[in-house]
Amino acid sequence: MIEITFLGGGGGRFVTITQARATGGFFIKASKNIYVDPGPGALVRMWRYKIDPRKIDVLFISHRHTDHCNDAEVLVEGMTYGVTKKRGILIGSKSVVHGDENHTPALSKYHLDALEEVHAPNPGDRFKIGQEEMIITPSIHSDPTTIGFRLKTSYGDISYIPDTQYFDELIEWHEGARVLIASVTRPRDMRIPYHLCTEDVVYMVKAMKEKPEVLIMTHAGMKMHFAGPYKEAEFIQNVTGIKTYVAKEGFRVTVGKEISVKTLRPARFV
Ligand SMILES: [Zn+2]
Repeated sequence: MIEITFLGGGGGRFVTITQARATGGFFIKASKNIYVDPGPGALVRMWRYKIDPRKIDVLFISHRHTDHCNDAEVLVEGMTYGVTKKRGILIGSKSVVHGDENHTPALSKYHLDALEEVHAPNPGDRFKIGQEEMIITPSIHSDPTTIGFRLKTSYGDISYIPDTQYFDELIEWHEGARVLIASVTRPRDMRIPYHLCTEDVVYMVKAMKEKPEVLIMTHAGMKMHFAGPYKEAEFIQNVTGIKTYVAKEGFRVTVGKEISVKTLRPARFV
């Protein structure tokens, strides 16, 4: 069984600043533990849902924007038992690992050196992660090195479309995934450059010959937050026939023979 637990379903500058929706990314428990896009609050939200950062094997970071990588260093400290043990794998965009003209790398040399392996792959590159295989997928975003993935598992594929504008190749890279997690920043009639909106997702999944069993919308920006992501999810589900959910902190998808979802209760803070 594969378990996907969301530590937030928000994204974009204003949702992040206000924490109108949590921005912690998500955690995949497969044969190895993979943490994806640790935005601000990832560490705190993890403990709220009893996920221990010391158990992370692979940290995947799609790009070097704060809402996706803010908590990267502190998670590496978790993965490496407080930098006492060389452990864990980072798979990040080139901007995350090397920085770019506007950004330093998302992690210091101290943190990068603490990891067993650091990769800044290209679309099409493949990684064997325990019994699963991760295929790196492309994206067109304001960070031009942004990457997503398709994780091949014995329970079907789990695909992640990170921040990107719509482009036709998204269809072939993600077609046939059983669970499709897509960053849908904007609601209907409110498209902005470099991000997906509701209509883009409808167009994309309608064009897929093999459709996902479940679609999960994440990375809701402020306009999506106010428009109501559940209304947008209902619209997508009505016009595509695909079961569509909205990610939020504590939302868990269990992928076995069947796919089931539940919202976990947060642990009490001391
Ligand atoms: Zn971004």
